[in-house]
Amino acid sequence: LDPEEFRRQGHMIIDFLADYYLNIEKYPVLSQVEPGYLRKRLPESTPYNPESIETILQDVQDHILPGVTHWQSPSYFAYFPSTGSIAGFLGEMLSTGFNVVGFNWISSPAATELESIVMDWLGEMLQLPKSFLFSGNGGGVLQGTTCEAILCTLVAARDQMLRRIGSQNMGKLVVYGSDQTHCSLQKAARIAGINPSNFRAIKTTKRTSFSLSPDSLRSAICEDIDAGLIPLFLCATVGTTSTTAIDPIGSLSDVAKDYGLWLHVDAAYAGSVCICPEFRHVIDGVEGANSFSLNAHKWFLTTLDCCCLWVKDPSALIKSLSTNPEYLKNKATDSRQVVDYKDWQLTLSRRFRSLKLWFVLRNYGVAKLRDFLRSHVNMAKLFEGFVTSDKRFEVVVPRSFAVVCFRVLSPGMGKAASYANGTTTNEASTNELNRKLLESINKSGLVFMTHSVVGGVFVMRFAVGATLVEEKHVITAWKVVQEHANAILISENY
Ligand code: PLP
Repeated sequence: LDPEEFRRQGHMIIDFLADYYLNIEKYPVLSQVEPGYLRKRLPESTPYNPESIETILQDVQDHILPGVTHWQSPSYFAYFPSTGSIAGFLGEMLSTGFNVVGFNWISSPAATELESIVMDWLGEMLQLPKSFLFSGNGGGVLQGTTCEAILCTLVAARDQMLRRIGSQNMGKLVVYGSDQTHCSLQKAARIAGINPSNFRAIKTTKRTSFSLSPDSLRSAICEDIDAGLIPLFLCATVGTTSTTAIDPIGSLSDVAKDYGLWLHVDAAYAGSVCICPEFRHVIDGVEGANSFSLNAHKWFLTTLDCCCLWVKDPSALIKSLSTNPEYLKNKATDSRQVVDYKDWQLTLSRRFRSLKLWFVLRNYGVAKLRDFLRSHVNMAKLFEGFVTSDKRFEVVVPRSFAVVCFRVLSPGMGKAASYANGTTTNEASTNELNRKLLESINKSGLVFMTHSVVGGVFVMRFAVGATLVEEKHVITAWKVVQEHANAILISENY
């Protein structure tokens, strides 16, 4: 690695990326390529002789960029955001540059100690109870993704329970979520060896805005106990993936406590906005949870991957996930004065993720982070206003954060007869109409949105969150929606 060549080529990549951001609005937001496009364009095998970075970068421009869906485009309103920032990028770059593998304290003390510090900082910003912080005998760890965080906590809960009831009862353990819980819970349950028939996705309804009802949970638990099963784990969500529904953490934690369940709160998307005092109430009751996680790589300006997981009892994680081979033994570990994060996660090797989060926290400060999040919520309100002021459309579920779930109504349906007020006669055809509308909008390349189906209703999700988004992009997006709706309604003879 020649430092001077590194400097020259590094600058070239920064220039390339700066130009990319300068021109990002010229690209179709959703990639328009066909499956298999890249194999047709690239050579069949690795070059025998070295190629210059200049040549490779030209191929990135010509062949890779057409196949990129531009998550950083200001007209990206799909899924949940994956926000980036200069601070986040630079922190990421530094950690890649140092390329340390901080599995235990001695392998890079700064990597471990900075992680513990930023997790306490962020925990305090969220007003998490002290019991989740290192200073309160809990602690935080940076995982790659929420899927890993849920799996780790589920395994910790499983082993804690089996130590008490004996491993012969493994087949009786039951895991609970709602029908809106992210699919990672079911996957984690499968990996953790939970009997597939002991996975409960409790039904939610429009009446509770698709949040999990504590009464339904209690009934499900009682039924399972009556059947001789053993309730183990509840995953409650603050900001569900389809509609950003909010499960009532406080009352759910009461139920969990009554029956001895481990409660994990998945706030992958909405956790970030809880640093704003006006949103903090959505995690009220978190003191009753065993673990809590959010994705800083979603809505917190920190590049993928960066899932923040706090636990009240790190020893539960450690008992399940620790390894201690001879080649990793060292005095610091023996002294029990240090954290060895390898014992808090699935993998041994781990990246220096805390650098990017530390850069973001310091470079923005609490004030600017709050401004950033609030600006997205305000833009979502603006879009919501557009939807409600056009009688052909409706907001399907109340907006909680910066995602608007809406749809176009079949003509004649009218808001009065709409889903918001009860059943409709032509739900299936309305779903089809919305599916076509979304496809047509996304094909334009001007805007990218995604969908979900809740309570049998197809909804388009307008998720504000791209770092570069401004009001003008929201206004344009609404015009695109209206124009495509006009065209579709005419072509469908409405
Ligand atoms: N939980 C919720 C509520 C989500 O919305 C998502 C992803 O969007 C996840 C979990 C999964 O997150 P990850 O991709 O970090 O595993």
